[in-house]
Amino acid sequence: MLFALADCNSFYASCETAFKPFLRGRPVIVLSNNDGCVVARSREAKQLGIAMGAPFFQIREFCRANRVAVFSSNYALYGDMSQRVMQTLASTVPEIEQYSIDEAFLNLTGMRNVTTAFAESIVDRVKLWTGIPISIGIAPTRTLAKVANRQAKMDGMKTCLLLDESKRIDVLKRFPVEEVWGVGRQLSVKLERMGIQSAFDLAQQDPVQIRKRFTVIQEAMVRELNGETCLGNQQSPPTAKSIQTSRSFGKPRYEFDALSSAISTFVSRAAEKLREQGQVARAVDVYIRTSPFRPVAQYSASTVVPLGRPTSDTLLLTQAALDGLAKIFQPNYAYQKAGIILIDLSSAAVNRAQLTFFDDPEELERRAGLMKTLDRLNEKFGRSSVMTGTQLLDDSWKSVQQNSSPRYTTEWDDLLVAK
Ligand SMILES: [Mg+2]
Repeated sequence: MLFALADCNSFYASCETAFKPFLRGRPVIVLSNNDGCVVARSREAKQLGIAMGAPFFQIREFCRANRVAVFSSNYALYGDMSQRVMQTLASTVPEIEQYSIDEAFLNLTGMRNVTTAFAESIVDRVKLWTGIPISIGIAPTRTLAKVANRQAKMDGMKTCLLLDESKRIDVLKRFPVEEVWGVGRQLSVKLERMGIQSAFDLAQQDPVQIRKRFTVIQEAMVRELNGETCLGNQQSPPTAKSIQTSRSFGKPRYEFDALSSAISTFVSRAAEKLREQGQVARAVDVYIRTSPFRPVAQYSASTVVPLGRPTSDTLLLTQAALDGLAKIFQPNYAYQKAGIILIDLSSAAVNRAQLTFFDDPEELERRAGLMKTLDRLNEKFGRSSVMTGTQLLDDSWKSVQQNSSPRYTTEWDDLLVAK
């Protein structure tokens, strides 16, 4: 087998500079909804030390002083650019598996002449056709292709090919085990305690012992690092850019409970859609605001809450969104609108193959089953037949279409009740 991982460099920031060539070489950052915090940084912005997730108001002056170009996030643009990049990649090889908004595996199995020049020709074509810079890593397994891609980025190169044994060993020796695809922080602590520090150390382990000590997933990591393909073909559905749900309230709401109820409802809808598309989200963006058209004290805020691991679980997403809401909520404002955006989406199938050590496979299975049941019940008995408790806290925010007649025939809530 032979795979290439094509990954866009600083994707959101690159989408912004693609149309503004004069910004090349300047630090660029992209902010979350309502310009709350940093969600993407160009290489130059990273070098300035701007942190992912930094609240913008804290670094506004710093950005001005350092001539940082600042953009509000434009998910419609990123989604469209992603599609163009994927189409361009698809024009170069027979089979691609899109993995996230800015990454895809290219299946090169059976292709001849897989050389640096070939890889660079793909990088150049994507740059020419879309304006987006990408890096390519090529190796016999997806896990090694990920390693190769990171190595290319660290070396400031367009490509990195891990095709011969000495190069593989050389790169793995310099590659921290924590950075290996699917390892993550918690497992790496455990591995380091066993004296495993580099990807090479992990590759040296006996796969059978690793399975006994951990699970088949970690065994697969070891085998993949040694060039043996274990992860099945993960055809992912076309990736949506992000899923947004928001609504203006009929009357302004002041209470935390009302906003909690609204946010919970938005998350439920969005999570349902996420599962329908076979995707998981890495973060949820929550926002609330007063009406700019009313003579009231103005307030608007948003925050991005990263999930511990990508998920489509309504309960976990709701918890994250409500944590975010608690952080930005201020009492005594007349809130007119709230919304959530599920961001950084990727394929659920590929993520499932990359469980981290502390994920209990049985628990995950059980939760996936619960979500399936939830979706089935809601499909059968109408939307919101089964919902999370927080949706019910205070649903007064729903009364937006006060003048419309009840939807007698399409909504269970509006069914006529015989007394
Ligand atoms: Mg990327």
